[in-house]
Amino acid sequence: MLHKIDSGKIGPFGEPMEEAVRSCVHCGFCLAACPTYGELEQELDTPRGRIVLMKEVLEGGLEIEDALPHLDACLGCLACEPACPSGVEYRNLISPFRALAEDQRSRPLGEKVRRRLVSWTLPHPDRFRVAARMAGLVKPLAGVLPRSMRPMMDLLPSPLPPEQKLQERYEARGEHRATVALLAGCAQQVLDPDINAATIDVLTRSGVEVVVPREQTCCGALSWHVGDHRAAKEYARRNIEAFSKVDAVITNAAGCGSGMHEYPLILKGTDDEERAAELAALVVDVSVFLERLGGPGEIPDRGEEVTIAYHDACHLSNGQGVRSEPRRLLQRIPGVKVVELCDAHLCCGSAGTYNIDQPEVAASLGEQKARAVMDSGVMMVASGNIGCLTQLKMHLGRLDASIEVRHTIQILRDALNGI
Ligand code: SF4
Ligand code: SF4
Repeated sequence: MLHKIDSGKIGPFGEPMEEAVRSCVHCGFCLAACPTYGELEQELDTPRGRIVLMKEVLEGGLEIEDALPHLDACLGCLACEPACPSGVEYRNLISPFRALAEDQRSRPLGEKVRRRLVSWTLPHPDRFRVAARMAGLVKPLAGVLPRSMRPMMDLLPSPLPPEQKLQERYEARGEHRATVALLAGCAQQVLDPDINAATIDVLTRSGVEVVVPREQTCCGALSWHVGDHRAAKEYARRNIEAFSKVDAVITNAAGCGSGMHEYPLILKGTDDEERAAELAALVVDVSVFLERLGGPGEIPDRGEEVTIAYHDACHLSNGQGVRSEPRRLLQRIPGVKVVELCDAHLCCGSAGTYNIDQPEVAASLGEQKARAVMDSGVMMVASGNIGCLTQLKMHLGRLDASIEVRHTIQILRDALNGI
């Protein structure tokens, strides 16, 4: 796309943003892949429309406030990237744009308070646990609470699972094959700590030593995707210090893995850019790591046939290009058949804080995904992201569907234990 963006004036993000705009040829192949186009049916709520809006703001021909409603409605699901024949790296445009816009936009007081609350609690498991417990206590009053708070309430499991303290090191069992560091995640530790327990169990029994650095923090993805560049940089820097001397950094939440892969962009133009790239090269989803190892070893045959639907978390499939490995891992379990969901490319509507920021679109996408799972006729659905799992549980529950929702690694751990 021709443009008059002066990338030099934008700062370190100028070059990747300008490149993303330039490589878009306006063909529209991405439109059908975009969930918000399906929901809102407007050109300005498509990847192509959003690229034009950002280009015009960057050129100085459009007020930022006119573009923001359509950019805020973007899930950041990145379904537009694999659909694009020109290789437009939309991620290099939307998050940097949100970071630049944050200094220029004004928000209503209620929204400011909500954002502050989210950024103060969600990235900190201890604070989030306390907040979630308090929210659980007032859940029966949800009907009289502000509308903006209800999606947060609905997403919380009831009761909250007990806290699981992680050790700093877990020895490999059997022959030592690798040493990895685990990103423990923030919300995941509170909402479903068993995912980390399952990850550690499967890795250690596969001969992998697991370290869980105490100094690690939130990955920063949540902050980055809502335009809080200062916080995202801080988290990225602290994690660069925390993770070192390992063969890989394992993530088991798609959003966190994808966020850590974006560290070089988050720290672009700073002294830490090179170290960010070195760390990002070590970051790998647990499913990919296990497949590279040749699988988790022999899985007992329970003599049962089980059909499992696999839901692609956007930040695993689109964000990290990980599609086949989780499916292959599940298919290693004797008797397991993996089925695909209808409209599998569509985001489930979870997308970080999207449930809170854009509740109507999030709810519609969540219900569609839950119905797709029900239509597949399975008794269990697997995914690799805590946000998707929480969203699926909530919407399947609302539809009275008794379908188990599990992380891929939990299913694998249970199969290894003959459960
Ligand atoms: S498919 Fe790619 S090149 Fe075509 S309009 Fe969409 S982003 Fe632009
Ligand atoms: S990131 Fe997702 S919602 Fe945003 S433009 Fe791309 S496909 Fe649409």
